[in-house]
Amino acid sequence: MQRRTFLGLAGALPAWGQRRWLPYDLVIRNGELRDPSQGLRRQADIGIAGDKIAAIEDHIDPARAIETIDAKGLLVTPGLVDLHTHCFHSATGLGVEADPIAARSGVTTWVDAGSFAWDQTAGFRRFIVQPAQARIYGYVYLYPNDRNPDEDVIKYVRRGIEPTGKTVEKNRDILLGVKFQVGSNMNGRYSLEMLKAARELCDRFQLPLMAHISFAPPSTAEVMALMKKGDVVTHCYNGHSLSIVDEAGKVKPEAREARERGVWFDVGHGLGSFNFAAAKKALDAGFVCDSISTDIYNLNLNGPVYDMPTTMSKLLYLGMSVEDVILRTTANPAKVVNRMEGMGQIKVGGPADLALLEVEEGQFRLIDSQRNAVSATKRFVSRGTIVRGRRMRVV
Ligand SMILES: [Zn+2]
Repeated sequence: MQRRTFLGLAGALPAWGQRRWLPYDLVIRNGELRDPSQGLRRQADIGIAGDKIAAIEDHIDPARAIETIDAKGLLVTPGLVDLHTHCFHSATGLGVEADPIAARSGVTTWVDAGSFAWDQTAGFRRFIVQPAQARIYGYVYLYPNDRNPDEDVIKYVRRGIEPTGKTVEKNRDILLGVKFQVGSNMNGRYSLEMLKAARELCDRFQLPLMAHISFAPPSTAEVMALMKKGDVVTHCYNGHSLSIVDEAGKVKPEAREARERGVWFDVGHGLGSFNFAAAKKALDAGFVCDSISTDIYNLNLNGPVYDMPTTMSKLLYLGMSVEDVILRTTANPAKVVNRMEGMGQIKVGGPADLALLEVEEGQFRLIDSQRNAVSATKRFVSRGTIVRGRRMRVV
């Protein structure tokens, strides 16, 4: 277990002589622990030593900790894991800085969903992942954005196969797989042929694929046919033509078959990809997403996305239970990340990544990507973020 050293504490603490035997750096007291992956639902205190959870007990004497947080009235959940974000800073200016948003939203793990290509991976590691307090991973985009307009587009995309696969192989600690967009929008740039190139890459290098779906063509059936176990379909509750629900409100059989094969379905709210009516139809048909994510970037940060608790509140509004929502923002996406034992859970010996959440009651206006508004009577609010054993400061 990693502990802060005696010498490390000495400068900060005047009474170090008495404090050197304190077993906990931080104790979170009186909170209601919720970890649906283990059926954990209990009032208890959490003792943190270094960056790990060291104890979960009915009562921990605050005198045994350097610092305490009173979480009375709050849910203490595993740190939230956002499987679809944009926190890389590229020339588009879309990326957000993770830490300030993490501090106010409970999101301790961020997955950048393809804001960078293989040739920007060193920059992603050095300037995004390493300086951040939050944990950051990424799906690399299939090709860089430097195409010569005279070059055949398919040839250009295929040219990305080899360097992208090799880059992911060399950076498996932070790269989860390959991201690709498919759909007829974005000037028709994302055809089925290109998705086939992404499929070939992922087969050849044995990598998971994350596919963004939007507008047909191609059809949902054509896209789902290329998705395999461990792949992620993001924007699963979009209201567009390349979607999992048909016009009559039925879940398309090819989406169900993909799920049965082990394909993962993720929300990825974003500026255009979360629609209350589409989500409701899917949920009514029993098609519950595997993970809830924001697809947060600069154009949706001030609405309609705002943050992860707001996205979670929308699913709560649609009838998911608090437990269901927490599972899909903690242990479930942590399984896709799959880089750290105990991530997305509250366990002794596991990482001390926690969210302090409140479920507020009142009247709250929530809007989807098409600006449809609803009035919810409950919402999630973040009251604190602990990552690597330390409380993040809200600035
Ligand atoms: Zn995105």
